[in-house]
Amino acid sequence: MSHAPASSCPELHAIRAGIPALSRRVHDKPLIYLDNAATTPRPQAVIDAVLAYESTFPANVHRGVHTLSGEATHAYEDARRRIAAFFGGGELVFTRGTTEAINLIASSWGEAALGEGDEILISALEHHANIVPWQLLCERRGCHLRIADVDDTGALRLDAATAAMTDRTRLLAMTGVSNALGTVTPITEICRTARARGITTLVDGAQMTPHMPVDVAAIGCDFFVFSGHKMYAPTGIGGLVSSKAMLDSMPPWQGGGDMIRTVSFAESTWNDVPWKFEAGTPNIGGAIGLGAAVDWLSTIGMDNLANREAALLGDMVSRLESIDRVQIVGTPTQRAGAISFVIEGMHPADVGAMLDRHGVAIRAGHHCAQPILERLGHSATARIAPAFYNTSEELEATEVAIRRVIDVFG
Ligand code: PLP
Repeated sequence: MSHAPASSCPELHAIRAGIPALSRRVHDKPLIYLDNAATTPRPQAVIDAVLAYESTFPANVHRGVHTLSGEATHAYEDARRRIAAFFGGGELVFTRGTTEAINLIASSWGEAALGEGDEILISALEHHANIVPWQLLCERRGCHLRIADVDDTGALRLDAATAAMTDRTRLLAMTGVSNALGTVTPITEICRTARARGITTLVDGAQMTPHMPVDVAAIGCDFFVFSGHKMYAPTGIGGLVSSKAMLDSMPPWQGGGDMIRTVSFAESTWNDVPWKFEAGTPNIGGAIGLGAAVDWLSTIGMDNLANREAALLGDMVSRLESIDRVQIVGTPTQRAGAISFVIEGMHPADVGAMLDRHGVAIRAGHHCAQPILERLGHSATARIAPAFYNTSEELEATEVAIRRVIDVFG
């Protein structure tokens, strides 16, 4: 695919035509969807895969002797294999998404490994999903949450992260990309430094997987977590990538069907990983949809996608910089996925609502990352989150809409 952000690229035209939601109109205007950091629209290929499961072999997995159950099990496990391969290998546990994966790790690994006085190190950039489970764990286990600060541009530097590691740090849990500012963190270097000090590492990959090729082994973390709906798959599916040895060493989290090998009233024994962590009937259609999403992304090529998004982000930053009264919040040199901004004298929620009248969908608020906004002196921002399928014409129309909003608001 061409890296030029114009919509004239025929491959891009075909890709856009294959994402049904993009043909919607909103308030009688063509939809310009720039809220991809919240969730991405689903391509027809993903919808078709889910529909095939729901309509043709809507059976449970791992427990039936009949044909439909065999087909469902094959599709579910084959999706797991393809998704794990997309991330460079490793064991993949399906979860509802990033939040559930982090809670799984906090409850299973955290309860067993952490004790009084131990420290968990996160960064100032984290989404609430990578803050609150650790606060709850700290309350239960008597450990402490430490924060690696960012600089005033919203960048997390390796030296700041390293300086925050102590002899008591047992876990480093950090994001690869900030959903609020778009900051790309030096996560591979941070993980390398932490692991050299014997610290277990967790990478929140929710905003990495839609925007860059991810090789979990190359990042070198112990846990990598992500959400399907941020990478063109349905909601309610995501996962945790780790090693068999690590997952084997962890106690089960939730109990129920599928996660057991044997059950008696006296005691139960556990299934092998990854199923040990998949209690109950899983989101089978979601997993199949996520498998289709990684196939779709592989066809596009994550390097192509990343190059195109870099051009779109650069374009949008320049457009915002050219508008009086607009201030970009967070100006890191390494950016992916998102641009936060405020307009002098206007509440971000009003900016979002007025842009919606122009058909432009953005997010406004604290982006479930209140601490980083507060760190940069804001309680809320407007956030433009483009994806590779957006066009420069859409960005131009967004700039025009922002200028109109400012004119109308006065
Ligand atoms: N982490 C980051 C960086 C995110 O952007 C998000 C969602 O916005 C999450 C975690 C939580 O993801 P989910 O709600 O899919 O579990």
